Amino acid sequence: MLRWETRRGTGIEIIPTGTFLLDGGTMFGRIPKNLWKKWFPADDQNRILMAAHALKVTSQGRSVLIDAGLGTLYDGKEAVILGLAPAEATPGPVDDLIFTHLHFDHAGGIQGLDLKGAAVVARREWEDARQEDPLTRGSYRAEDLAAIAPRLTLIDPPCLWGDHIEILPTPGHTRGHVSVVVDDEVFFPGDLIPTAAHCHLPCIMAYDLYPQEIIRVKREFLDRAQSRGWLTVFEHDPCVPVGRISKINETFKAVAARQGRDTAM
Ligand SMILES: [Zn+2]
Repeated sequence: MLRWETRRGTGIEIIPTGTFLLDGGTMFGRIPKNLWKKWFPADDQNRILMAAHALKVTSQGRSVLIDAGLGTLYDGKEAVILGLAPAEATPGPVDDLIFTHLHFDHAGGIQGLDLKGAAVVARREWEDARQEDPLTRGSYRAEDLAAIAPRLTLIDPPCLWGDHIEILPTPGHTRGHVSVVVDDEVFFPGDLIPTAAHCHLPCIMAYDLYPQEIIRVKREFLDRAQSRGWLTVFEHDPCVPVGRISKINETFKAVAARQGRDTAM
């Protein structure tokens, strides 16, 4: 588990909720395999290893989790297809839970989570998650939405959650997708930038519903992350969970960051 502290004293923990395997082609869209296989080696079924990191933000005794990760509620067939390996570590009790969006690899961890307060979801994401859309039906699970419903608090970003957390609209992966910035220092883009390799602008996923929009939004936020020096968390990257953004000749790259206040802030 990686830990930092912001200059305002907010505690940041990156919690690995488990790993899974996804088709490498779908993760890198139109990038050819002979390029992406150098970053993510594929298995004999063309699958690559994906992490599912959650972010725990703690300040003055209150904790907020950003995304709940994979969880363990999968039937045998799903677990095999996904090569699911849930982590031993759990986030422990949390006061509130904010979702970047409601796909199973971000929402599944609500099952069994010790959540005391609100489950915070962008209104548009909640509406879209309940649509019977053939393209996205496999990404949203009814049992996750049912677990969220009793705690649901709908938001219309941009907005703040408490004194430290900014929730910003970052559409493209889904229409209602949001990203989170903590104390203007730590950036949790969710599936806007799922791995460090996705800092490369044309690297987008086949799962991104609005390709042109995600590239526009990604460029805007990479620029902001670079100029603000944000520590950026790559939710699905098993090797580079956190880095800083550099920009050379209009090309963005992530430089891996190490744990600790001095290297991070
Ligand atoms: Zn995801």
